[in-house]
Amino acid sequence: MSSEVAAPRRRARVRVEGTVQGVGFRPFVYRLAADLSLVGYVLNDECGVLLEVEGSDRNVARFLDRLASNAPPLAVLERILCEEREPLGAGRFEIRESARAGAADVPVSPDTATCADCLHELSDPVDRRFRYPFTNCTNCGPRYTIVRSVPYDRPLTTMAGFAMCARCQAEYDDPGNRRFHAQPNACPACGPSLSLLDGSGQPACLGGARDAVEATAELLGRGRIVAVKGIGGYHLACLAGDHTAVAELRDRKHREDKPFALMAGALDAAARLVEIGPAERRLLTSPARPIVLAPRRSDAAVAPAVAPRAPELGVMLPYSPLHHLLLGDVGHPLVMTSGNVSDEPIAYRNEDALGRLAGIADAFLVHDRPIETRTDDSVVRVRGSRAALHRRSRGYVPASIPLPGAGTPVPLLACGGELKNTFCVAKGARAWVSHHIGDLENYETLQSFAAGIEHFQHLFDVTPRVVAYDLHPEYLATKYALERAEVALVGVQHHHAHLAACLAEYGEPGPAVAAIFDGTGYGTDGTIWGGEILYGSLRHFTRIGHLLPVRLPGGPQAVREPWRMACAWLQASGIEPPADWQPIARLARSGLASPWTTSVGRLFDAVAALCGVRSEIHYEGQAAIELEATCDPRERGAYRMPVRSRGERLTIDPRETIRAVAADVERGAPIGRVASRFHRGLARATAAACARAAAENRCDVVVLSGGVFANRRLLELTTSELRAASLRVLVPERLPPGDGGISYGQAAVAASRITAGELSPC
Ligand code: ZN
Ligand code: ZN
Ligand code: FE
Repeated sequence: MSSEVAAPRRRARVRVEGTVQGVGFRPFVYRLAADLSLVGYVLNDECGVLLEVEGSDRNVARFLDRLASNAPPLAVLERILCEEREPLGAGRFEIRESARAGAADVPVSPDTATCADCLHELSDPVDRRFRYPFTNCTNCGPRYTIVRSVPYDRPLTTMAGFAMCARCQAEYDDPGNRRFHAQPNACPACGPSLSLLDGSGQPACLGGARDAVEATAELLGRGRIVAVKGIGGYHLACLAGDHTAVAELRDRKHREDKPFALMAGALDAAARLVEIGPAERRLLTSPARPIVLAPRRSDAAVAPAVAPRAPELGVMLPYSPLHHLLLGDVGHPLVMTSGNVSDEPIAYRNEDALGRLAGIADAFLVHDRPIETRTDDSVVRVRGSRAALHRRSRGYVPASIPLPGAGTPVPLLACGGELKNTFCVAKGARAWVSHHIGDLENYETLQSFAAGIEHFQHLFDVTPRVVAYDLHPEYLATKYALERAEVALVGVQHHHAHLAACLAEYGEPGPAVAAIFDGTGYGTDGTIWGGEILYGSLRHFTRIGHLLPVRLPGGPQAVREPWRMACAWLQASGIEPPADWQPIARLARSGLASPWTTSVGRLFDAVAALCGVRSEIHYEGQAAIELEATCDPRERGAYRMPVRSRGERLTIDPRETIRAVAADVERGAPIGRVASRFHRGLARATAAACARAAAENRCDVVVLSGGVFANRRLLELTTSELRAASLRVLVPERLPPGDGGISYGQAAVAASRITAGELSPC
């Protein structure tokens, strides 16, 4: 008789929350359980992954250890809850069908760049996926852009219409396979396919090319413009080094100056276009594959029309198999700009693309895997050694961003601002900020805003009981909020939302001092704010100071024509504007159609116009971007810009600066010197105002945000001044400093007001 005592048996039930679906988590659990001779099951449900394991005490403990430490690369584990169960005895380990009942709040994973294993198959002539443009596995491929609903399972994605062939099905069913439960799994026999269409949408002749990709590469090589369907929408592609093609693309797209993004085939090709350090390298090759803004190399072989007068180029690497094949066949970097006409949203449905891009593209490279959600490329820049997002979209969305503290007691929606809009839904401790919607200035964008909200509410099972909105009565997002029935509404001042977004990102409740500089934001006094020194928490704020107010002659027209701001600022500074500006000077004096503004964006416009850098703009922030680009880095001087106390408030007074700029330009001083002195003068004034506000309020944290702080020079100079004054500086990283971050800020303000009992949900 055996004297051996049975090892103590244990059964544990484990709930895993976070991004755990569509990332190979169940096969990982299966293999781990098999390795440790455990029985039980694993399944996806609406809360994430649920599993039970049973076996020897020691092996269950090992399993629990490795569950977190060995998780697949794309999994983000937010919480693991474990409870003990009665052991059931023998059995096996199985992967069970997804449970579909109950509330859905599973985070869907963002779209992910092609992995090394898939790339290898793509280039292996004997592999059955050789040159197959839709190759993917559980470690890579489309996710968010193909998801129609949750749980994330093939029938609820845009792959529903493709029945897997026997070989694909076998991979899908095999827990040991890399494609086990890879929902978009496909091969040339059963999956989506490409076709090349001519400019009128008819099938094009492939000539001697072996496939549509190679034929496209030939067209591009001959200087043609091709609309290419990607992951989140259509790109317009042409050779980056072909002057005629790039100029033609600008002309047809009606886009005058705004830089085009580039796609380089690989890291070394990218390094020939821009200066890249370790941080840029990491970002370029990250699974999100954003457009990385980096200083352009003087010898970069790109046509001048790619990014006129811009000191930086936006470069990305291929992120789908289609891109890898195309860039490989072309052998040169491509312009890959969003497939739209001027400010319309990017085209993403086939018929729509063929219609809207007909006058622009010479040919269309299309495919039959539908895109559910239009998602633009994300844009990042390296700051220090960290990534700072300038547009947070494909590859990042819909990952959740935590709300500070306990989050929100009731589900809520925040509608965001007008330009570069995003919206945000939140529940409990999590907020989901949407993809980049765009400027809410036309019907199409408004449609995609409203449809996007419906989609998010469904995906994350958020039925908002509170809706937050911007105070500007004319914003379409505000009107949308005000039309919602059966919710409590909360208006959040624009610059307070900027402040709150930054605090919340760092998990801080405040209070903090903040310099919030941007173009336009509706103030609580009905004037246009944009140069604000605030002191506030997530809940409330006080306006401690601001830029000296001036007239905005002609309202919106003054935004498009910086010379009008030059006129207004000259006048305010006691200088008679030149004769041909007199009608505008009179308009400003009369105050007719000329609201007061404290906008720092408009101050930049004025200085750019005085310097002769730009008198009209074609995209938001253009004058400031070009002024920054002209700065002479060797110049150490700064214009004087006093900070005055006017009653209760501080005023940053740039009139002396304006007079000095005018005099220096008059004297023929180099523009680089003038631009540099202006930046440093403004940075000093900003830091001085913040330091004074911080001292008065016994506070040592300063937030710098608002679209103006996308200006790297201003941000660096201001930050170092503040640090020298022993202040801690917070700057947005995970969300843009511009209006793309507004919705999250509104959500944070609403959540803290509800928590404090200041707002009762309906
Ligand atoms: Zn893969
Ligand atoms: Zn197949
Ligand atoms: Fe703003």
